Amino acid sequence: MQTFDFDLFVIGGGSGGVRAARMAAQRGARVALAEAGAMGGTCVNVGCIPKKLYSYAAHYAESFEESHGFGWVGTAPQLDWELLKANRAREISRLNGVYLQLLDSAGVQTLRGWATLLDAHAIDVAGQRYTAQNILIATGGAPTIPDVPGRELVVTSDDMFDLNPFPKRLLVVGGGYIACEFASIFNGLGAQVTQVHRRDKLLTGFDDDVRRFLASEMSKTGVKLQLGAEVAAITQTAEGLRVDLKDGSQGPFVVDTVLYATGRRPNTRGLGLEDAGVAVNAHGAIEVNERYQSSVASLYALGDVTARLQLTPVALGEAMVVVDQLFGPAAGKAPRSMSYDFIPTAVFTHPNIGTVGYSEAEAREKFASISVYRSDFKALRHTLSNSTERTLMKLLVDDASDRVVGLHMVGPDAGEIVQGFAVAMKAGATKAVFDSTIGIHPTAAEEFVTMREPVKSPT
Ligand code: NDP
Repeated sequence: MQTFDFDLFVIGGGSGGVRAARMAAQRGARVALAEAGAMGGTCVNVGCIPKKLYSYAAHYAESFEESHGFGWVGTAPQLDWELLKANRAREISRLNGVYLQLLDSAGVQTLRGWATLLDAHAIDVAGQRYTAQNILIATGGAPTIPDVPGRELVVTSDDMFDLNPFPKRLLVVGGGYIACEFASIFNGLGAQVTQVHRRDKLLTGFDDDVRRFLASEMSKTGVKLQLGAEVAAITQTAEGLRVDLKDGSQGPFVVDTVLYATGRRPNTRGLGLEDAGVAVNAHGAIEVNERYQSSVASLYALGDVTARLQLTPVALGEAMVVVDQLFGPAAGKAPRSMSYDFIPTAVFTHPNIGTVGYSEAEAREKFASISVYRSDFKALRHTLSNSTERTLMKLLVDDASDRVVGLHMVGPDAGEIVQGFAVAMKAGATKAVFDSTIGIHPTAAEEFVTMREPVKSPT
């Protein structure tokens, strides 16, 4: 029988890779993990975590403003961008260390350097050859910039956390998660933000009501939305970066920084996938079956490199399924499976979006008849805050089963609120169950259990 150096070799120390390596080692497998960059991947270093920290920072701006209505007097403090960057960097380094320590204490051998596949069971890391019975590719993704004149002048989300100096004028291109979040965050931190998106609504794929409502709320906070617009060219001028749009009547804009947030591509280059015979699809993502196995039986892949749902908790869920399949479930537990239905998600715009289940358009297509419940209100806090912010909540119910199949919110803490409702929806909660649930008063969240009358005509 062939012997291998390791039972599992993980390429990539992001959320999915680290989780798989740790869990496999805890099951008694001999595991190595190779990472060329900082431990923790996109989420920890240039994604979810620093983004959320900056979002918290940005929310203080509105809190200071709103506090006057509650009797707080005096001028608001100023943002010290260098201090925020330094504090973020310190916390991220701490997390890098925590990840390394978790791997160490689980008994995973960590290898620092670029890993290349040599064949179905062999990997090279920094000139050293290792063999493994199974290899897991969890190399994530990276931002892409389309081929626009002046593309060398723009930055991506990877660069946003350490901009020097703080961009007083920022132009964001794109209408997805990353574009909307950074537009909101930098607006809150004090930049003048223009967001250019090629469609007439932000956030393709989300509920149309949510998309319209968010655009209106973001505009109120000061983000200048330029919808249905495409960039023609970016040029360096003495006053800053000049951005011309294809429709000359819009713009030009002169800004300090142009952020392109126009999607991400899977990190598959330079991994030796061709040498190992691993199939990738037209977008460069590794193709996997329902067991996360690639076209080569000993090679598995999960998370953003498979470009399905690019969300950290999805990669974590997939990692645990792979480990259960390869090494058996944890003692006393059934093997895990991964369901892609009713995955909740939040967009940390200001205000937040929280959503789970179908959009209204999807629900109308999927179910013969649905009822829509919708509430659009001014939260209690804003009776004194002087803010004009409004909150949107929406429920979609399949009339045949009474099951709540879509739940959407735009408003403060939507991500926090929707997580709990996602549990109920996974469990198949009906509208009758929502109606029989007692609200927590006074909260915004109680509105989800007090919406009694469906809206009359489709929105
Ligand atoms: P998205 O795919 O969400 O959005 C890309 C945006 O760029 C879309 O608005 C798209 O327009 C636009 N676009 C694409 N190509 C071009 C082009 N050539 N010119 C102009 N505009 C273009 O990608 P993101 O980069 O925002 O985020 C990647 C993924 O990361 C997300 O899908 C999400 O899964 C994940 N993420 C999750 C977060 C969270 O959970 N809070 C936060 C950040 C990221 P169109 O609508 O026309 O396609």
